[in-house]
Amino acid sequence: MRIVVTGGAGFIGSHLCEFFIEKENDVICIDNLITGSLSNIKSIRDNPRFTFINHDVSRFISIKGDLDWILHFASPASPIDYLKYPIQTLKVGALGTHNTLGLTMAKKAKYLLASTSEVYGDPLISPQRESYLGNVNTIGPRGVYDEAKRFAEAITMAYHRYHSVNTRIVRIFNTYGERMRMDDGRVVPNFICQALRGESLTVYGDGEQTRSFCYISDLIQGIWRVMQVEDYEPVNIGNPKEITIIQFAERINEMVGNKCGIVFKPLPEDDPRVRQPDIKRARIIFSWMPEVRLEDGLRKTIEYFKNKVYHNKD
Ligand code: UDP
Repeated sequence: MRIVVTGGAGFIGSHLCEFFIEKENDVICIDNLITGSLSNIKSIRDNPRFTFINHDVSRFISIKGDLDWILHFASPASPIDYLKYPIQTLKVGALGTHNTLGLTMAKKAKYLLASTSEVYGDPLISPQRESYLGNVNTIGPRGVYDEAKRFAEAITMAYHRYHSVNTRIVRIFNTYGERMRMDDGRVVPNFICQALRGESLTVYGDGEQTRSFCYISDLIQGIWRVMQVEDYEPVNIGNPKEITIIQFAERINEMVGNKCGIVFKPLPEDDPRVRQPDIKRARIIFSWMPEVRLEDGLRKTIEYFKNKVYHNKD
């Protein structure tokens, strides 16, 4: 297959590029590197099956030759990133999705949209199943990401319904692993790097808010499975094992052997109180379940950040 991955130099995008290169596909990675990095794709950069294009997909995209799949993963995706790049976040979710759908139609290819649990906003039900319509503050600081992704889902379904484009929508819940950026502000890199530096872990709010963490290899398997089935409705991909942020901090301090405990910091505006995917649809439609235990995924992720923190290495 010949596959385009937008955002292919980002955390999730680079794992996808690597996965498809290993399966002997041709991969075209498009990224404008505002939050992605060339170091994420260094293991595949010289592979003849791999092409990197430095381009902002919010602008018209031109690719020569046939394509089989377009996987749209380009977007700032951590709260501090989309607060730093609010307009780019809205544009890549809206114009970028429009352009990538147009490319898909022109090439008669298939399309997969990376959506997010953020479409549920600060959810009033838990766990969140796909039929839940969400509780998003359109004008709050996270609205730029949440609404961009909600629009992206709407236009993807419109292209499916009105232009018969073969589409998939994956709602990705908190995912972690190697190649997260040390400074992306998310809880996993923050806590691990603080613990490795022997600092107190910064818990926002009372730390009783919950998240459910999925290891990157489980997510990639889930995406691969979605691509095998003809199902156009959104599907949650995430790990349903829920944990409070305080428990998460304690777990990381214990694993790293950090004695500095935690400090409380103000809770960011509109920070969701709970988040836990209902993954029944994924189980029924394509028999997917996450397999990696939090301890095992964290152990690998800690090793990755050790190199970064102690040796400043990619
Ligand atoms: N969080 C925290 N300390 C940090 C970074 C994040 O307590 O140093 C909290 C944050 O307030 C949220 C949760 O951890 O409740 C997950 O935050 P993250 O930025 O990873 O992603 P989100 O799930 O909010 O999109």
